Amino acid sequence: MTKSDSTNYQRKKTRQIKVGKVLVGGDAPISVQSMTITKTADVEGTLQQIYALAAAGCDIVRCTCNDAAAAEGLAKIVPRSPVPIIADIHHQYRMALGALEAGVHGLRLNPGNIRKPEHIKAVASEARDRGVSIRIGVNGGSLDSSLYEKHGGLTAQAMVESAQQELKYFEEVDFDLVKISVKASNVPLMVEAYRMLSEVTDFPLHLGVTEAGPLPGGLIKASAGIATLLLEGIGDTIRYSLTADPVEEARAGRQLLESLGLRERKNVDLIACPSCGRAEVDVIDIAQRAQAAFADKKLPLQIAVMGCVVNGPGEAREADLGIAAGNKRGHLFVKGRNVAVVPENEMVDALVEWATFIHEHGTDAALKRVDTTIAEREAAKDRNAALAEKGDDANHDQERIVEIRRTVSEK
Ligand code: SF4
Repeated sequence: MTKSDSTNYQRKKTRQIKVGKVLVGGDAPISVQSMTITKTADVEGTLQQIYALAAAGCDIVRCTCNDAAAAEGLAKIVPRSPVPIIADIHHQYRMALGALEAGVHGLRLNPGNIRKPEHIKAVASEARDRGVSIRIGVNGGSLDSSLYEKHGGLTAQAMVESAQQELKYFEEVDFDLVKISVKASNVPLMVEAYRMLSEVTDFPLHLGVTEAGPLPGGLIKASAGIATLLLEGIGDTIRYSLTADPVEEARAGRQLLESLGLRERKNVDLIACPSCGRAEVDVIDIAQRAQAAFADKKLPLQIAVMGCVVNGPGEAREADLGIAAGNKRGHLFVKGRNVAVVPENEMVDALVEWATFIHEHGTDAALKRVDTTIAEREAAKDRNAALAEKGDDANHDQERIVEIRRTVSEK
């Protein structure tokens, strides 16, 4: 077990393998994977998607290799890809051999649909000779039917047993560049299967909730399963299986790891208050516009959008930068200290300008950039005006409490 600096979680120690230039397992950073949805034979289209995925934070990309044209496409894609490429193989072991010939950095085999031991061993032997890793990708929906019958249906034990059977074939040909997944679309089942698997193997584990579905439900399901396991120290690489543009998968994976403190922040972490009776702007609109403005900017900062200057700067004082509304103005603050006042319609532009400055010059330079006493005085003015107008009880909870007490005490 190794302990992360940034969280209290204990990561289970696994063996380390290589997928091209990316290390998986051991103390390697947890990697993000996704899969292209183009025809792999469409080399230019697939490469475009691979580049978009890499830009969104994807470390490893998988492409289907379902026919000879796809295998030939891989031969052209692999040398031009910015990230390692894994070929996804179902049913036809010859496609795995073709993908290896194309130079892929990894294979994914489904033990539920490539069943003949001699075929599995032929692929593993070839991968061994080339130093290419294989993921044993057990999938609840395509479990080997004999295991399904033996266990009376789809169970965690059946999925783990499927992976172990495949491992035995690999061992027979002395192949151990392996990672394993036991995905199911049912979150508790998937969590149980991975927990069980991590007890019986030290090969790196690839986490995912299969067929999680469209947004936003798919994101919730996948996050519930993946995050639960990661916080138990289980998992070395992850994939969100969403019915969406794969770029969403890469973004989600990256954001999950960043929010758990398991990967260094690369993008803006936008926090925003939920708004309430005290809000002096449409917080949802400004937060959405800020999210869009920062979407493609590689700024590893936490930025806050707060609805009022009464509580905003204090509640978000840990943020690198924030803005709070008051009296038709935006009060910018850096680490909780007011630095500038901007018109309401310039709030998002001001955030982008200050975020860029902080990224380039640091927080101290930002605080020295202006005379903060002016901004602090203006913020205090608007804070006092808001308090005078709405009082301490802007959400009227005290009034409600008085009414509740009166109602419940009525005979
Ligand atoms: S008090 Fe101000 S910062 Fe807090 S939720 Fe309400 S509007 Fe947002």
